[in-house]
Amino acid sequence: MPKSPVTVIGLGPMGATMAETFLKNGHPTTVWNRTAAKAAPLVERGAVLAATPADALAASELVVVSQTDYTAMYDSLGGATDALKGRALVNLSSGSPDELRRAAEWAAQHGADLLTGGVMVPPPGIGQPGSYVFYSGPEDVLDRHRAALGELGDTTFVGADHGLAMLYYQAQLYLFWSTLTSYMHAIALLGTAGVSAEEFRPFAATTVSALAGDGPMGFLRILAETIDAGIHPGGANTLRMQAVGADHVVETSREAGVDTSGPTALRDLFWRAVDAGHGADGLSSVIEAIRAPAS
Ligand code: NDP
Repeated sequence: MPKSPVTVIGLGPMGATMAETFLKNGHPTTVWNRTAAKAAPLVERGAVLAATPADALAASELVVVSQTDYTAMYDSLGGATDALKGRALVNLSSGSPDELRRAAEWAAQHGADLLTGGVMVPPPGIGQPGSYVFYSGPEDVLDRHRAALGELGDTTFVGADHGLAMLYYQAQLYLFWSTLTSYMHAIALLGTAGVSAEEFRPFAATTVSALAGDGPMGFLRILAETIDAGIHPGGANTLRMQAVGADHVVETSREAGVDTSGPTALRDLFWRAVDAGHGADGLSSVIEAIRAPAS
């Protein structure tokens, strides 16, 4: 059966890999990029380079956008809005949920359906096992194009609100970056005593995998259960004890001469929760300080 045509707008590392994946899977693929020269390797493999954004939109019902941000979409398609009518615009660029909701209204005003998405792998992961993309917006549009979009990664639909895909995406990115930044902080700290990153790695791996496990250190599960239940049992591990420990991480970082901003932010959050009355509660009570930002 012939594969459906696809248009890809934006040929950074991500968009170019997506276009390459569609080509490999046999889709007639049209591309457009602000810097047209980036299309050359794809044209060699059979892609059609559209002369204008309007031509790119005219070529396929399914239009995948992968650019730095949503401003880029308006810059690219703002002069071609007549050609948006009837398109399934699938924007996989980064943005904030409110930006995505405004973009959905903009697309609807021009007769297009916007499906928003957040890609959860780097470019080499596109189309590989384990790759997935959060989608939100009209599920029927996703269903209509699930076969083609599924070639990029698993299609994980999270809800009709257009902002949801980015809410999930930003939540995952924050988890990813803050975990790895803490890892780098630990490496820098130990490095002041001559310990290499590679020497420390097995200890870090034990902690990270234990957090996701079912054992006594399985804090992903433990916190999910207590937070969803709205209880913060302290037991032998009170937040006050841990806030004092967090003070020591700040002090140790200062003594070692490394940056203290990350540990200080964490310590301040712990103490704000203690000051709000959670000293005898457990670690999960920190969520209350996160939910009620300091004014
Ligand atoms: P970039 O974020 O650098 O996107 C580059 C693309 O955006 C290029 O096609 C560029 O055009 C275009 N662009 C930027 N500004 C404008 C503008 N004002 N008008 C027209 N086009 C513009 O690289 P990636 O490809 O890596 O990322 C694409 C999206 O995917 C981003 O939102 C990113 O957050 C997300 N993402 C990226 C991942 C990664 O590991 N790379 C992982 C998961 C998501 P030009 O070539 O002309 O400069």
